[in-house]
Amino acid sequence: MNYISTRGGVSGIGFSDAVMMGLATDGGLLLPEGIPQLKRDTLEKWRHLPYQELAFEVMKLFATDITEEDLKKIIEKSYSTFSHPEVVPLVKAGKVYILELFYGPTLAFKDVALQFLGNLFEYLLEKKGTSMNILGATSGDTGSAAIHGIKGKKNMSIFILHPHKRVSPIQELQMTTVEDKNVFNLAIEGTFDDCQGIVKKIFNDLEFKERYRLGAVNSINWARVLAQVVYYVWAALKFEGPIRVCVPTGNFGNIFAGYIAKRMTRLIDRLILATNENDILHRFVSKGDYSLGKVIPTISPSMDIQVASNFERYLYYLYGEDPVRVRKAMEEFAKTGKLSFSKEELERVSKDFISGSATQEETLNTIKEFYRETGYILDPHTAVGVKVALELYSEEYPTVCLATAHPAKFPDAVETAIGRKPDTPDSIKALFNKPKRVWVLPSDVERVKEFISQNAI
Ligand SMILES: *Cc1c(COP(=O)(O)O)cnc(C)c1O
Repeated sequence: MNYISTRGGVSGIGFSDAVMMGLATDGGLLLPEGIPQLKRDTLEKWRHLPYQELAFEVMKLFATDITEEDLKKIIEKSYSTFSHPEVVPLVKAGKVYILELFYGPTLAFKDVALQFLGNLFEYLLEKKGTSMNILGATSGDTGSAAIHGIKGKKNMSIFILHPHKRVSPIQELQMTTVEDKNVFNLAIEGTFDDCQGIVKKIFNDLEFKERYRLGAVNSINWARVLAQVVYYVWAALKFEGPIRVCVPTGNFGNIFAGYIAKRMTRLIDRLILATNENDILHRFVSKGDYSLGKVIPTISPSMDIQVASNFERYLYYLYGEDPVRVRKAMEEFAKTGKLSFSKEELERVSKDFISGSATQEETLNTIKEFYRETGYILDPHTAVGVKVALELYSEEYPTVCLATAHPAKFPDAVETAIGRKPDTPDSIKALFNKPKRVWVLPSDVERVKEFISQNAI
């Protein structure tokens, strides 16, 4: 399988090169040249496979330049860190099914992709005989999942900037108690925007970037999307007929993986797109209004996003795989902050997605009501999804809601909703007495560069 850029400037590269490239060199996003169509009897054969074996079957269609034996090993290793034997179990709660994606090391769904990406990077770097320094900024979730994906890996170091004293206590612990020598937590005396600004400036210094072989692990890496495709296929195979899957959405990464799975299997009727008050994607699906708003901070912070970095991938298909149109649309969006769509295009969108949004009050209310009715405690991100899934519920299809985080990661919101904190898993309790590895630095690009040059691999 070869890979192309949504903007037409890259083509004919293999899976390994696409993973190492991350963002396409022409500014676009990488996609496989074609989406494999799975036959009925193939899917039937996969129905009872354990998660790791299903992952192997799905991924090998896309990762054709890695030997089957090596791919198997990478997958085994990636999901051995999950604490549930089924990796991502499906449970029923009330009218809906919940796909629990939070049994990885940081208790959020990002582990599914980042455990895989860390092992894949290590494998590819070893093969090429080179090394890499990962650099990123985080407001919480992505950073800790990235650290747990990269820690202890050969030929790699990771530098993650977070705003000093401005991430949640659990997220802070999950990052700073990692003892591996290749992990550098930089607590910046400033805001998340300051952290992001510093990272951007460093990546723009091409000489520095090359000298220290800097790389990123952001949600546009194709390997992350691919790892997420697997659990949609997994969920669909638990049922006889087509299902609907509800996805609490931020960067459009998770739900785009669902779109690929829908096209591959034809076992998903519609993807239910759920947003919080940052609802640009809901406005797009429901009214064709894709216009930029201001970012509103909410109790589901990992979805507080306006410009969804993976949306361009869907545009590529919506525009009939025409890279020239994608390029023009992205230029227009950069200039005007909005895009418009034809009636015919919106009709096509409505065959892929239905959507809704939840205010913070509705989110808290959903946590409360769902707990009262089913005894199941939702985290605030998952609750946004469940609110929308119940609103759009149809008897015709089993509805699967993706649970993107464990409720214990957001104890305050849960307590506000149900009057008590969720039980703290032992894996989190164990962090409270561990020593911390963190460096507090001023919000200053030069100081961060100096730190990287002294510690880079
Ligand atoms: C990142 C994240 C999301 C949003 O996922 P996208 O791929 O950005 O759409 C939702 N919930 C949680 C808990 C997350 O960490």
